[in-house]
Amino acid sequence: MSTTDEERVRALIAQVLAENPPASTPTEDFLQARYDAGLAWTWFPEGFGGLGLSPKMQTIADHAFEDAGAPNTRAGAIGYMMTGSAIATHGSDDLKRRFLPLIYRSGPVWCQLFSEPGAGSDIAGLSTRAIRDGDEWLVNGQKVWSSGAMTSDWGLLIARTDPDVPKHDGMTMFLLDMHQPGVEIRPLRNIAGTAHFAETFFSNARVADANRIGAVGEGWRVVLTTLMAERLNFNLDVAGAGAPRPGAPMERARELFIERGRHDPARREEFMRVWSMAEIVRLGNRRADDLAKAGNPGPEGSIGKVTSTELTKKVANLTMSLLGADALVLDHPYAMPGENHARFEGAHWDFLASPSNTIMGGTSEIQRNNIAERVLGLPSDVRLDKGIPWRDVPRNG
Ligand SMILES: Cc1cc2nc3c(=O)[nH]c(=O)nc-3n(C[C@H](O)[C@H](O)[C@H](O)COP(=O)(O)OP(=O)(O)OC[C@H]3O[C@@H](n4cnc5c(N)ncnc54)[C@H](O)[C@@H]3O)c2cc1C
Repeated sequence: MSTTDEERVRALIAQVLAENPPASTPTEDFLQARYDAGLAWTWFPEGFGGLGLSPKMQTIADHAFEDAGAPNTRAGAIGYMMTGSAIATHGSDDLKRRFLPLIYRSGPVWCQLFSEPGAGSDIAGLSTRAIRDGDEWLVNGQKVWSSGAMTSDWGLLIARTDPDVPKHDGMTMFLLDMHQPGVEIRPLRNIAGTAHFAETFFSNARVADANRIGAVGEGWRVVLTTLMAERLNFNLDVAGAGAPRPGAPMERARELFIERGRHDPARREEFMRVWSMAEIVRLGNRRADDLAKAGNPGPEGSIGKVTSTELTKKVANLTMSLLGADALVLDHPYAMPGENHARFEGAHWDFLASPSNTIMGGTSEIQRNNIAERVLGLPSDVRLDKGIPWRDVPRNG
């Protein structure tokens, strides 16, 4: 890290704070000032919310603004990391100008429209079609598991624009307005009882060509950028909890263990196995985080994703097993009954929700395939559709 870069960033932070006192500046104005100063995504180009510096500078800015009681973007992972990275890396200057400040100021809510009933792990097999119609594209098809689609204003949509070339070559990425007649959203309820995601149907939905990210047919490159950003963003809520931290699932398990399990040798062994794993995952993720912030992300994204999310399941299972018979009683959604209500609130939720972490953002099996191929150099997965036009690949439906 260059001291000069840090000095420059700290001077800009001081200037933004002096010219826009957080206590008396409306949030949107403050965030626009951060954007204009290049302190929204420090690694983005100058003029587009960044300074062309390392992402590590962003951490410095975020901490300094937080210490000063200043607001940060609430655009969320899909808006800030995924859509922001896609536009900055592949979008036209016009797209960057129109959307990046908007995303950073957290105006609209974003969803990711990638998975389909026949294309999840194999996103590149997707069927949703976009056909050119003058200055617009007509979109028809179906997406599924679209998190937050019910409340989203915009969707990051990957669609097939050319079915006559191999699957990876015939896709294009768009920014689709979710508030239009051709978009129908049906919420899906998960095992934990909430409707976190939805099915999204498109019937002649329209998207302006000006809202295309990257060249026609180059959508796969944009997908890879967003998936990298998503994996890096998978950050460690439970893995980080390997270190005692109030309220975190591993800490909840530790308190329960001390209260109910510490005199039982079998429980001690069970607890120590999970605790040690949490600590290994936490340290591994810290290393990955440091490498990513230094602008050098590696396969640690896949390793961190699979180890962190598999750990969340183990921590949730351990907690339920320590709760014993209490684990069977659920008199309030996602909260524990009785005297332990406040302290153990969320144990059922963690138990029911943790398996989904191993699926979203690429399943554990897919992460292991990545690690096997890209880190260990093992033979690649069997790919029967390689080089075949998408139209000729056998598929269901
Ligand atoms: C909580 C949650 C939120 C989500 N949010 C979004 C979202 O916002 N937007 C979005 O587009 N999608 C979202 N998804 C969808 C998610 O990306 C997919 O569920 C995931 O990629 C898996 O795809 P699939 O469900 O079609 O399963 P499939 O791909 O059909 O896989 C089924 C099983 O086969 C295994 N498998 C598949 N291929 C291989 C292989 N080559 N080798 C070994 N095993 C394999 C998988 O690991 C899995 O166990 C979300 C999912 C969840 C659970």
